Amino acid sequence: MYDDQNIFARILRGELPCYKLYEDAVCLAFLDIFPVNPGHLLVIPKQKAVSLSELDAATAGHLLMTAQKLADSLRVSGVRCEGVNFWLSDGAEAGQEVPHVHLHVIPRFKGDGFGWKVGPNNRKALPAGELEALASAICRAQGGVPCS
Ligand code: 5GP
Repeated sequence: MYDDQNIFARILRGELPCYKLYEDAVCLAFLDIFPVNPGHLLVIPKQKAVSLSELDAATAGHLLMTAQKLADSLRVSGVRCEGVNFWLSDGAEAGQEVPHVHLHVIPRFKGDGFGWKVGPNNRKALPAGELEALASAICRAQGGVPCS
């Protein structure tokens, strides 16, 4: 269920201000006001959607193309940007706080102090049998798309 009062819905309606970077018929991009690093920006669809899976392929692709262009702009803007993270948290358990799809574009630089926390159960090499079972489950879920 989409919450019409979420912050990004209100920004889209012009009820809350934003530092706009780009807008077209499909999406809006603006600065994140609690940035990981200065220049951290967000690209959001105008469509009311909580999860990426609610968007059609063209809209989802458009978000990434817009993020790509803005990342290119970041790199030549004078903002400190030696690398870029493209990051989308889909679902509360994945860290999504605002329930409107948003793609983060985060300028990164050496020594910026940001990073993923790796817990004791993360990043462990899996045995081949488990990797095979995972690959088959995901392939089957695609609905008959042949794998391998
Ligand atoms: P999430 O944690 O859902 O992936 O990302 C939400 C992002 O929205 C965060 O990076 C947070 O800093 C940003 N944010 C939260 N409130 C506002 C706001 O009022 N304006 C803007 N521009 N960004 C916000």
